[in-house]
Amino acid sequence: MDAWVLALDQGTTSSRAIVFDNKGRIAGNDQRGFRQIYPQPGWVEHDPMEIWQSVIATANAAANAAGKRISAIGIANQRETTVVWDRKTGAPVSNAIVWQCRRTADICEQLIAAGLSDYVTQKTGLLIDAYFSATKLKWILDNIPGVRQRAKNGDILFGTVDSWLIWKLTGGKVHATDYTNAARTMLFDIYALKWDEHLCHALEIPMHMLPEVMPSSGIFGNVTDSAELRTLAGVPVAGAAGDQQAALFGQACFESGMAKCTYGTGCFAVMNTGPLPKKNADRLLVTIACGLQKGKAEYALEGSIFNAGSVIQWLRDDLRLIGSAPEIDILAASVPDNGGVYFVPAFTGLGAPYWDMYARGTMLGLTRGTKRAHIARAVLESIAYQVTDLLTAMQKASGSQIFKLRVDGGASASDVLMQFQADMLRTDLDRPVNVETTALGAAFLAGLAAGVWKNKEELAELRQCDRIFVPNMDTHMRDAYYAQWQRAVARSLDWEVH
Ligand code: ADP
Repeated sequence: MDAWVLALDQGTTSSRAIVFDNKGRIAGNDQRGFRQIYPQPGWVEHDPMEIWQSVIATANAAANAAGKRISAIGIANQRETTVVWDRKTGAPVSNAIVWQCRRTADICEQLIAAGLSDYVTQKTGLLIDAYFSATKLKWILDNIPGVRQRAKNGDILFGTVDSWLIWKLTGGKVHATDYTNAARTMLFDIYALKWDEHLCHALEIPMHMLPEVMPSSGIFGNVTDSAELRTLAGVPVAGAAGDQQAALFGQACFESGMAKCTYGTGCFAVMNTGPLPKKNADRLLVTIACGLQKGKAEYALEGSIFNAGSVIQWLRDDLRLIGSAPEIDILAASVPDNGGVYFVPAFTGLGAPYWDMYARGTMLGLTRGTKRAHIARAVLESIAYQVTDLLTAMQKASGSQIFKLRVDGGASASDVLMQFQADMLRTDLDRPVNVETTALGAAFLAGLAAGVWKNKEELAELRQCDRIFVPNMDTHMRDAYYAQWQRAVARSLDWEVH
């Protein structure tokens, strides 16, 4: 029987809603942006009511465009962003503090000085950083007048964006989150699958303000009957996951050793490591890939690269070597190789596995014969080398090989990049037809709980491959390229930044 699932993909700069049919095809689609609020350098906020308004507007528009009865709603959301609101009135006590916001860096310094680093890593899989929700929540409790007292009285609730949306969709009936979002708060014990008392105590966070943690696929509640959501009244909210984990699920990376890499402005790689958690991650993050049942989780390693698609933008907007992003492929394909040119895009330092915030960008191997096309190629290749470094570190930390890498994101459109990536990793790369993997993952989670799909095998069959990139570079040549890249990286490290 035909059925339709609505995915709400609540991202950092826009909200999207997509209706999928039970074949995984898009039947309705809408997207709206909302304000990015920068009160001070390094601070980033969103208005939770604007997020909510954008979500209902897109949800209604997508549902109307599809014109079908929706069986279930799934949520994928920007992670770590922190919302605090009044239990009775539903009014947020402040703007949401966005994951990018650095205002709590000093609180993190204090936690490190208090000797909490190892404890945080052992329990949460994370490294102490302003990125995660815990210190953002503490900041709100400490700085918004009266909120700490109201929280102690039980009048205030905390949630990541998924919780906020579930609460709003259910008309304030359900205060819940899923395992993957809880795993990004830096307050959740990802092994015992419960909020960690010691960390809540250390951060002075009243535990009764935290949401109930539920499986990523399961009925959270039903949409309330209200004027703004009439078309969706009664529909079960049946899935939720953080955006990167939703994409992993949407790419059907269900088994240990399967990984996805999103080539956007930066790159996000997530590798499924199965039900047995790996604790020693060598500064990569350990997180929950997904929890389909109460008390059970699958784990993942996660790592990111700061500069990926952004280097293509730099080539276009600053160096002006290309007129548009897709032109990079045409230019790069006009020469047979990089002509000996290597580019290390350490614009903001280097992450895994170098961890050098003083590294800076460098371009090596230039001769009088260097052409624009060689530089374009070196820039594309730099993305593939960085991903190779990252995935090699992940394979080492997990003790297992990545046997399938599934790709998505804007820059995965580059065939030159994808082929070179397959050559460097010596792994097949699989690019799907539908690169809206985040929304698809949310739909999969919800549809699974609502009986639209029976099991993961059925979901895996819905994923349609656009193209497989098979490694075809001679091993000696591959090793010579990679060794030369590592030499170039060595020259970019530890630059004296003035
Ligand atoms: P984000 O979600 O991080 O904003 P996207 O997934 O939309 O990013 O990807 C945008 C990036 O993809 C841009 O940095 C752009 O340079 C790159 N990009 C888009 N199209 C192409 C293309 N055809 N070839 C190479 N890179 C591309």
